[in-house]
Amino acid sequence: MRKIRTFVFYLFSMEIIKIHDKSFEPYIDAAQIQQIIQRMTSEVARDMEDTTPVFVSVLNGAFMFASDFVRNYKADCEITFVKLSSYEGMHSTEKVRELIGLDISVEGRDVVVLEDIIDTGNTLEEIYRIFHNKGVKSLRIATLFFKPDAYKKNLKIDYVGMPIPNRFIVGYGLDYDELGRNLPHVYQLNTSLTMTNLVLFGKPGAGKGTQATFLKEKYNLVHISTGDLFRYNIKNETPLGKLAQSYMDKGDLVPDEVTIQMLQQEIDSNPDAKGFIFDGFPRTIAQAEALDAFLTSKGIKIHGTLALEADDEILIQRLVERGKVSGRTDDQDESKIRNRFVEYNQKTAPLIEFYKKQGKYHAINGIGSIEEITNRLSEAIENLEK
Ligand code: 5GP
Repeated sequence: MRKIRTFVFYLFSMEIIKIHDKSFEPYIDAAQIQQIIQRMTSEVARDMEDTTPVFVSVLNGAFMFASDFVRNYKADCEITFVKLSSYEGMHSTEKVRELIGLDISVEGRDVVVLEDIIDTGNTLEEIYRIFHNKGVKSLRIATLFFKPDAYKKNLKIDYVGMPIPNRFIVGYGLDYDELGRNLPHVYQLNTSLTMTNLVLFGKPGAGKGTQATFLKEKYNLVHISTGDLFRYNIKNETPLGKLAQSYMDKGDLVPDEVTIQMLQQEIDSNPDAKGFIFDGFPRTIAQAEALDAFLTSKGIKIHGTLALEADDEILIQRLVERGKVSGRTDDQDESKIRNRFVEYNQKTAPLIEFYKKQGKYHAINGIGSIEEITNRLSEAIENLEK
C-alpha cells in the first residue's frame, strides 16, 4: 500500500508544472540526481585522499547540491559559501556580481568549488578571479550540470555531474525568477509548447520562399534555408564552408554531418527563437532521421511538415513566366523544369510517408493568392499538435 502511494506521489510530482508564466516538463528525477552526486563525491574523495578540502558552494543555486554533496562526503571536510549573481530571469548576463565574498583564509588549502550549473562560464570566470592571489594549494571546480553548447570560456572544469542541452532548467536549487528552488526534481522549459518548428516542402515555383517570409514574420520564427547556409559558409570561408567546398571540389556530395553542423550552429546562435522553419532540409529519410536525432539532443522537435501542393502544369507556367522576368535560364526551359519535378517527387515521396507516420504531415493547397495560401498555412500551424 505504502509503495503504491509512493509511486502515485512520484508520478504526480513529475507532471508538467507551471512557474510564473512558463511551463516546465520533468527532466531529471530526485533519485537520478542522488546517483550523480554519489558518483561525483567518490571522484572528488579519490583526489582528496590525503587532505581536508574546503568546499566552496556558490549561492544561491548550489545550496541543495552542496548540502547533498557534503552529506555524501564521508571524510573530513570544511564548507563555506560565496554568493554571486549573473542571471536575470532566464538570461545569463555578462556582469557577475559578488554579493557575499569568502570569509575564511584558503591559503595553502585544497579548494573544491561546488557549482549548480555552468552555462556561459561568466560566473566561473569570476570564481577563478576570486581565488587568484589567494594562495590556494589547489583549485578544482565541480558542477552538477554543464551546458557545453552555451559554454564560451576555456576554463578548466574538473568534475561534471551531467552535461545537458542548452535549455533552461529549474528545481533542485535552481530558480526561475526566484521560484522553483524547492522542487526535489529538475524540470526543463517546455519549449514544445512555446516553440513551433516547421519543415517546409514545395516544388520549385510553389511559393515556398514567399510563404516562409510571411510565416517567419507572423510567428517570429527563424528561417533556416540550407541553400542560404551553404552559400553563407562558403562565401565567408568558415571552417564548415571550407569543408563543404572540399567535397564539392572533388565532385562529391557534401555529407549530411556537415549540413547538420551548419544547422546546429544556426540553432545555437538563436537560443531565444520562438521556432525554426527548415527549408531545403531534410531531403532524404537519412537526413530526416539525423535532424530528429539532433533536435532531440537539443530537447526540441519538429511539430509539423507543411507541403505546398500545386498542379505541375500550373507550376511550370508560373516558372516559365518567372524565368522570362528574372532571366534565370533554368526557369525558362520546360523540360529542365519537368526534370526538377521528377527529382523532387522521387526524393520527397519517401519523406511524406516518414512524416505521415509521425502524424506530422500536412498538405496545403498551394493554388491561390499569396494571402489565401498564407491563411491556409496559418490555420495548419495554429492547429498543430504540441
Ligand atoms: P554562467 O555564468 O555560466 O552563464 O551561468 C551560471 C549561473 O547562471 C548559474 O549559477 C545559475 O545561477 C544560472 N543558470 C544558468 N543556466 C541556468 C538554467 O538553465 N536554469 C537556471 N535556473 N539557472 C541557470
